[in-house]
Amino acid sequence: MIGLISATAAGAAARDRLAAAWPDRTRVYEGPVGDAVRRAFAECEQLVCFLATGAVVRIVAPLLADKASDPGVVCVDEGGRFAVSLAGGHGGGANELAREVGEVLGAEPVVTTATDAVDLPGLDTLGLPVEGDVAGVSRALLDGEAVALRAEVAWPLPPLPVTAEGAYTIRLTDRLVEAAEREVVLRPPSLVVGVGASSGVPAEEVLGLVETALREAGLSARSLAELTTVDAKAGEPGIVEAARRLGVPLVTYPARELSGVEVPNPSDAPLAAVGTPSVAEASALLRGGELLVPKRKSERADGTPAMATCAVVRRPGRGRLAVVGLGPGARDLLTPRAKAELRRAAVLVGLDQYVDQIRDLLRPGTRILESGLGAEEERARTAVEEARKGQAVALIGSGDAGVYAMASPALAEASDDIDVVGVPGVTAALAAAAILGAPLGHDHVSISLSDLHTPWEVIERRVRAAAEADLVVTFYNPRSRGRDWQLPKALAILAEHRKPQTPVGVVRNASRPDESSRLTTLGALDPATVDMMTVVTVGNTATREIAGRMVTPRGYRWQTAQEGAE
Ligand code: SAH
Repeated sequence: MIGLISATAAGAAARDRLAAAWPDRTRVYEGPVGDAVRRAFAECEQLVCFLATGAVVRIVAPLLADKASDPGVVCVDEGGRFAVSLAGGHGGGANELAREVGEVLGAEPVVTTATDAVDLPGLDTLGLPVEGDVAGVSRALLDGEAVALRAEVAWPLPPLPVTAEGAYTIRLTDRLVEAAEREVVLRPPSLVVGVGASSGVPAEEVLGLVETALREAGLSARSLAELTTVDAKAGEPGIVEAARRLGVPLVTYPARELSGVEVPNPSDAPLAAVGTPSVAEASALLRGGELLVPKRKSERADGTPAMATCAVVRRPGRGRLAVVGLGPGARDLLTPRAKAELRRAAVLVGLDQYVDQIRDLLRPGTRILESGLGAEEERARTAVEEARKGQAVALIGSGDAGVYAMASPALAEASDDIDVVGVPGVTAALAAAAILGAPLGHDHVSISLSDLHTPWEVIERRVRAAAEADLVVTFYNPRSRGRDWQLPKALAILAEHRKPQTPVGVVRNASRPDESSRLTTLGALDPATVDMMTVVTVGNTATREIAGRMVTPRGYRWQTAQEGAE
């Protein structure tokens, strides 16, 4: 919850705008300002104070305890011009909140945390538990001092300006080590604990066993990623509660699958109870990786038989492949999510001209692997190979990266040992449609006229089917210097089923600086005016030109019956 506090009428007006924008996220604190701030500080994860920074500093200073747990505090000035991230920039999320508040109120976000200002990811914002000298190592990174990365586990980190040797160290490990001086220890979620238990096992027994097993093996519980068990125990209260208290998900497998796993310590008891000779070892090993702690049993103070078993596996670092659509060209048609993925990647793979489009968004230290036209397969393979090494990789494409682009060749190469994240982008057909009017208001199809990878007979068959089905058609890759007869041929096929007056939209370089568009007709289109930077959208038999715009009606009964929601 975000607590809102104000003192003046202007402050209250801005406060009410924020409360109206985020009714479920905010709570207004009334009454004397000091009390209101103190109550909000105790009850909320975040505060927005429509007060001078000085006033807020004085009130919250005695309340501040630890930047990991304090609420994030944002101040908005009387004029509503600035949203200042005052405290808890990273841990309390105040930097992000200042940006959000700025968007709602039209205020400038003011962020002074150094790592944000110079565009380095804060060591406490990587999504991994962090221990040690965070402030010292962050300052060294900022000052350009040598900081060495010692990764004992491969894990996809965003780009950090690190070197092989240095007076400061970032250590990536799941082992139970104390951070040394000038050292930060990052905890990758690399450990999986398999759990087996008899019915009615107490949560304390499971928890005690898991914690002891990790500690005695010299492993950090902060690197625990998940508990695993057999389906039959998915609802076992002691296991469910242990997972909840450890803050990790519980992953379960059918006994049949577990019994197929080769394990060092099979036994008869689970075979009789749930139908597999191993639960703890088998379920953990199914997550991939090496067995660090073979099956061990819980110990009970009263000497009664153990009710729980566990086994610990270190799963291999999973690389991350983000397949990111950049949109048609304009920066404001690049989605915030695409931007976030670009900044998260340590390795960027793409066509050189697309890399140029977003180079300024990349973090310092990002490794860029660019190649020229035609190297699609190589790009796909490179991206997947880098992800398999445990890297955070972004593979980029214009428009949507899944439309006539890199997503399919890349995913055809990828195995299930990497995480894949897709970020949709505005594809050329949609960018062009928005410029033309509403040509895609009814059923439509995209067809690429490139016969480089697809035999012309297949393309022609699809054009013919679209013509017969009266679909609006958007042609991608319509014409290039070496490929000039395909577009006239495709248009001729459509013309067998549509009148010469059928509207046709031609959009070149949609949303780029030299954007141009024309509305013409099937009878009048001159294919020579079309090139590879263009899409051509041909209307169906109901499409009309209205006030210079291309409009395809929602349906023939639409006007009278008003069916549908919009
Ligand atoms: N993945 C891209 C399409 C790649 S195929 C997307 O989703 O948009 C390349 C073809 O897309 C080009 O030949 C052209 O027909 C079309 N195209 C891509 N960007 C365009 C733009 N900004 N304006 C017009 N056409 C575009």
